[in-house]
Amino acid sequence: MKLGTKADEPIGKVVTDGNGRKPTRTPRFFSLNLLGRNVEPSNSGKERQIGAGGTTPNNQQQHNAERSTPWLMSAFEAAGNWAFLHVNFLKQWVVGAAAEDAIKQAQKLNEKGSSAIICCLGEHIKEKAVVDEMMQEYRRLLPMLGSEIRAGRIHTETSIAIRPSPFGSDVVDSTVVDARAYSKTNMEELVKLAKENGVLVWMDMEGSHFTDYTLEVYKELQAKYGNVGIALQANLVRTADDMRSLMTAPELTQNRAYVRLVKGIYKETVNAYEAWNENHKNFSDLIGIAFKESDAGFKVAVGTHHAGHMLEALELSKDYPKEKFEIQTLMGVRDDLTDLLRSNGYAVTVYVPYGKKAFAYSVRRMMRSPEKMSTMLPMVVSIFKAAYKILYGSEPVGVPTDMDSSELKSKERELRTYLNGTAQ
Ligand SMILES: Cc1cc2nc3c(=O)[nH]c(=O)nc-3n(C[C@H](O)[C@H](O)[C@H](O)COP(=O)(O)OP(=O)(O)OC[C@H]3O[C@@H](n4cnc5c(N)ncnc54)[C@H](O)[C@@H]3O)c2cc1C
Repeated sequence: MKLGTKADEPIGKVVTDGNGRKPTRTPRFFSLNLLGRNVEPSNSGKERQIGAGGTTPNNQQQHNAERSTPWLMSAFEAAGNWAFLHVNFLKQWVVGAAAEDAIKQAQKLNEKGSSAIICCLGEHIKEKAVVDEMMQEYRRLLPMLGSEIRAGRIHTETSIAIRPSPFGSDVVDSTVVDARAYSKTNMEELVKLAKENGVLVWMDMEGSHFTDYTLEVYKELQAKYGNVGIALQANLVRTADDMRSLMTAPELTQNRAYVRLVKGIYKETVNAYEAWNENHKNFSDLIGIAFKESDAGFKVAVGTHHAGHMLEALELSKDYPKEKFEIQTLMGVRDDLTDLLRSNGYAVTVYVPYGKKAFAYSVRRMMRSPEKMSTMLPMVVSIFKAAYKILYGSEPVGVPTDMDSSELKSKERELRTYLNGTAQ
C-alpha cells in the first residue's frame, strides 16, 4: 500500500507531472536538495499549516520537493517512517502501519472509557491510483469495524476521519473531469458504508479554499445519512457564522449538525486570525457560541490540548445534555489530560492515526512537544528538522512564540483543581 500522509501533513509520493508522466529523479538535484535550495517558493501560500501540526508546504512546494527528492532522502524518509512506527521512544503519535493496529487501539481506548476516531494518513493526493488505494483501505477498514461493533468488541461510537484531498479533490487525471465531484462521490460512498457498519464519520477541515466545498458536502451527507460530524477552525473569521448557520440549517433539522471546534492547523492569511493568541481568543468565543446559542439538539466536540479551553468547555457544558458534548484529543498529545478528564467522568474521544507514512506527521507532533524534545539530543532534533525541510519544503513549526506557557501551566492547575471539586 502506498498511501500518503494525513491531512495536517505532506503527502507521500507524488504523483505525476500533470501529463500523467512520473517525474524523473536525477542526480543533478542531489546536492541542491541536501542544501534545501531546490524547493521553489509557494504559488499561493495558502496551505502551509501552523499550530500543532507544524508547517506543511502547499501543494506546489510539495510537488517540487517530492519531484526532486533524491534516493538518499527517500531512504531517510523510509527509515523515519519505520522508526516512528517501531522505536518505543518515538512511536507515540501513530498507532501502527495497518488498520488492525488502529482497531486494537480503539478497543484499548474503549476499555478505558473513550471512543476513537480512526484516520489513515494521507492528503493532497494527485494520482488517481493512490486515491484508489486510499478508498480500498477504507473499504476494508469499515466492514472490519462493523464486525467488531456487532461482536461487541468495540464501541458503537467509533468514528473514521475523512477529508476531501485524500479522496480525490486534488487529483489530476485525464479520466477525472471534475475532481471535487469525484471526491464527493468517494466520500459519499464511505459515509454510506460507514452507516451500514454503524460507524460515525468526521469530516476534517483542510485549508480555507476547501471550506465552502466541505461545508456543502457535509450538509448534504449529514442530511441524507445522519452519521457525519464536521470540524470548524477558529483561525478563520467566518467560522462563527458557519457554526450559526449549521445550527439552523433547514436541511439539518432532522439530522442535526455535529461540530468539532479546533484552532485550525493551516496557515491562513486572508480573513484569518493569524496570531496564535487571536486564534486562541476566537476559539474561546466559539466555545461560548456553541453552548450558549445552540439548542440541545446541536452536538459539540471541542478538539484541544489546551487546559484553558478544556476548562471553558467543561464549565459551559454543565447545563448542556451530557451526551451532546465531548472533548477530543490527538493520540500521544497530552494523554495525561485525556486520562484526567476521562477519569473524572467526561467523554473524551481520541483521534488515532495509522498508516505507513508516520515520519512527517510524527515530526510535527514532536516539534510541538517541548517535553519530548528536552529528552532528545539536540543533534537528533536538528537532523529530523533538516530532513523534514528537505523532504517537504519547509521546517516543521515549533511551539508558537506568542503562546504564553505560564498561562498554560496556570490553566492546567486550574483544570486539576476544578476537576477535584466537580468529579462527575
Ligand atoms: C481531535 C482533533 C482533530 C483535529 N482536526 C483538525 C482539522 O480537521 N483541521 C484542522 O485544521 N486542525 C485540526 N486539529 C488541529 C487543531 O486545529 C490544532 O492545531 C491543535 O489541536 C493545536 O491546538 P490546541 O488548542 O490543541 O493546542 P495549543 O493551544 O496550540 O497548545 C496547547 C498545548 O498542547 C501542546 N500541543 C498542541 N498541539 C500539539 C501537537 N500537535 N503536538 C504536540 N503538542 C501539542 C502545545 O505544545 C501546548 O503545550 C485537530 C485537533 C484535534 C485535537
